[in-house]
Amino acid sequence: MREAAPPEPLPLLAGAHMSVAGGLHRAFERGDSIGCRAVQIFTKNARGWNAAPLAAPDVELFRERLTTSELARATCAHASYLINLGASEGPVAEKSLAGLIDELQRCEALGIPFLILHPGAHMGAGEETGLDRIAAGLDRAHAACAGFRVRVLLENAAGQGSCLGHRFEHLEGILARVREPDRLGICFDTCHAFAGGYDIRTAAGYEATMAELDRRIGIDRIRIIHVNDSKKGLGSRVDRHEHIGQGEIGLEAFRCLVNDRRLACVPKILETPKKEDMAEDVMNLRTLASLVEGARAR
Ligand SMILES: [Zn+2]
Ligand SMILES: [Zn+2]
Repeated sequence: MREAAPPEPLPLLAGAHMSVAGGLHRAFERGDSIGCRAVQIFTKNARGWNAAPLAAPDVELFRERLTTSELARATCAHASYLINLGASEGPVAEKSLAGLIDELQRCEALGIPFLILHPGAHMGAGEETGLDRIAAGLDRAHAACAGFRVRVLLENAAGQGSCLGHRFEHLEGILARVREPDRLGICFDTCHAFAGGYDIRTAAGYEATMAELDRRIGIDRIRIIHVNDSKKGLGSRVDRHEHIGQGEIGLEAFRCLVNDRRLACVPKILETPKKEDMAEDVMNLRTLASLVEGARAR
């Protein structure tokens, strides 16, 4: 019997959240300029409810870059932080649903395949009620956006306050409640998982976490990964991102992640602190690339 050849090193499909200052299409230029192979944007102000509708020339420019940029296949948008599908009936719930539908319409117009959404907070109503409301909100958004190609990706949360999604059970519960679960995917955030209590610091811990995620949600539902180290400790339920390898998680988890063949085709997006020159993104991308097994031999 011949010995099997060692597996090819994995190509690293990684990039970062990019500013859209100067126009949505500028995100591609910024990403390309530092060698990103994936990019995430906000299609409107992430901390506001209101935004001007997209202008036709901007949409055209964006779509043109989306088909020509190196990172075209790995583009996603993050929804506004204000949206809370877990809110009780009232103005916040109404604005949240309208806001989500608007974000989905913007993504659909722009040709962005994934919209990342924080599941929401129950605001004291309890987890079960919160999950019911979130699922009902997603059903209404899906109904309003019938036939859309863009998919909502529910992001696992750090679990601050009454925010849901820091346990995989929550995401499992939402998927079980919605009418069209096949229209949903998952965005897995390493910092949030760790802050939520999943100890991914060792290879064994990483594997156990992924095994639980697979059992409850399905690893193949992960369509985007947020690659962030954490300033705060295991189970802190506080959401503070740190540079790769410089936080409480440490390098081993990221080594496991970039060498995980099940996730090789899933874009990995940095949401780590940065300034306008993106030097920190370059540093973090280099760190990730250095962890790919076999990379140095190439
Ligand atoms: Zn994230
Ligand atoms: Zn975060």
